[in-house]
Amino acid sequence: MNNAYLLGLINPMISLLFGLTFLILWSRQKHRRAILAMAVSYGCVGTGFLISHLTPNWTGLLNIFVLDSIYLIAAVLMIWGVSTRANVNPQLQKLISISVLGMAAIMAVAAMGFSYNTSLLVVNFVMGGVMLFGCWNIRRNALGGGVEALVFWALFIAATQFWLRSGVTLAMETVQTGAAYRDSTYWAVLNASVAICSILLALSLIAACATDVIKDIRKISETDLLTGLRNRRAFEEKVKETLTNSARANLPVCLVMLDIDHFKQVNDTYGHQVGDKVIAQLGELIRETPRESDVSGRLGGEEFAILLWNTELPGARLFAEGLRSAFESLRMDGMPRKKGCTISLGISQWQPTEDFDDLYSRADTALYRAKSLGRNRVEFDTSQMPDLRAVTS
Ligand code: GH3
Ligand code: MG
Ligand code: MG
Repeated sequence: MNNAYLLGLINPMISLLFGLTFLILWSRQKHRRAILAMAVSYGCVGTGFLISHLTPNWTGLLNIFVLDSIYLIAAVLMIWGVSTRANVNPQLQKLISISVLGMAAIMAVAAMGFSYNTSLLVVNFVMGGVMLFGCWNIRRNALGGGVEALVFWALFIAATQFWLRSGVTLAMETVQTGAAYRDSTYWAVLNASVAICSILLALSLIAACATDVIKDIRKISETDLLTGLRNRRAFEEKVKETLTNSARANLPVCLVMLDIDHFKQVNDTYGHQVGDKVIAQLGELIRETPRESDVSGRLGGEEFAILLWNTELPGARLFAEGLRSAFESLRMDGMPRKKGCTISLGISQWQPTEDFDDLYSRADTALYRAKSLGRNRVEFDTSQMPDLRAVTS
């Protein structure tokens, strides 16, 4: 066993190992088909290199067709996986068209008896082109920083090495086909550069997949299961961040708190499950109603809150009245047609001198007043804004 033989095993082993790594990652999160595509892609590269390594005397058109098809399938799967993972359209039809045309060009050059150097140049040109198409797909991630930029640049380096490496090495030597191929500088540089690029791309993709999982776990930990809204902790965190932003931008914000009226009776009369459905319906209404910039959450039980960005008390009142009447007219799942549910709402407008707790406690006081004044109504806390009393009364 000589050194060249052992070195030739490095690439297949690296690629197959990463293929297996992605396969294991995918088996834990089967909804992420992009990871499966990456696994098969690495598997294909490893298999192609292994076949080429184990059959040094296999030459001719069939050899070119089989091996280059495997590499092109690997490239297409990689581009599909990388684009899909980044939530970008992989443009599969175009990708396949470029690959099929590329394959036709490779076969045509080989069949027409051009030199082996020319054949290799065309193969590298096609492979680099397909990979650059993937870079184009995710180009917006290039300047974004973080793991997305890392994936872009790893893919870009892997793509451009096909052109640069082959251009330089093939200009320097005339490569022989068959067993002599393995003694060429071209072969040595190809193996080294593919190994480096495989490792670089795989590590950045593994980092990206790990980031996706962390984001998912974070989202789950911040979301209330019944309504899909932020839970109390996430709501408070986001509100505090929004208050800081609104202080900086000098924009008004209002906090609207709401609570379902006589909800104990709903549970007692129709059962806890129907109660859950009512909470879910209110959650859905709240998810649909506010604007992108507003922050909404379920504070617990049948109590919710919405922070309205760039809104003063009169605007918040309109919003709250709209929500109140929309909920009142909702047909409740599991309850008789004529029986509806209502909510009471309390509003406070944020003063730059106060913190979240003050804002919250003033909205809560207003909500309490709405309850004591008969429920199914909107009340305000104007204790900090005497000039607004006239507007809101
Ligand atoms: P009020 O008009 O004064 O708000 O009267 P209420 O009956 O709604 O009183 P309160 O707000 O104190 O009652 C809350 C009830 O909500 C008590 C609790 O059993 C019920 N509850 C809390 N969380 C859930 C939940 O997730 N699902 C269901 N079905 N009920 C819940
Ligand atoms: Mg209640
Ligand atoms: Mg309550």
